[in-house]
Amino acid sequence: MDLQLLVCPFCGGKVRSRWSPWIDGESCWKIEHIDYEAAVAAKCPLEMGGYRDLEELSAAWNERKLEMAFDSFDRIELQRSFNRIAIAIDCHNAIKERKAHALERITDVTSRIQSSANGFGDR
Ligand SMILES: [Zn+2]
Repeated sequence: MDLQLLVCPFCGGKVRSRWSPWIDGESCWKIEHIDYEAAVAAKCPLEMGGYRDLEELSAAWNERKLEMAFDSFDRIELQRSFNRIAIAIDCHNAIKERKAHALERITDVTSRIQSSANGFGDR
């Protein structure tokens, strides 16, 4: 049977099932890292032992890698969201530019009106 197993929630390593019956013959399936050395190098708490105290143990066990949260996203949906944000930023910048341009023209026209009004006042 070809199992589809998610990556390890701690180190992101690939895992596989392993048949490992108890001494008395009772059925027991285990999960193990395919690349054990890499999991140990990544300090995966599933493969670690020898913690000095419970504080160290719980810190190791309770730490979840941030990248793992991103891995759980659907990448295509994430890409679409990024594209939408990029388009929104483009639109925002274009509007800002047009506003700045319009403001420039208004300022220009206003100053011309003022200077011609001042011209009338001089008469
Ligand atoms: Zn792991």
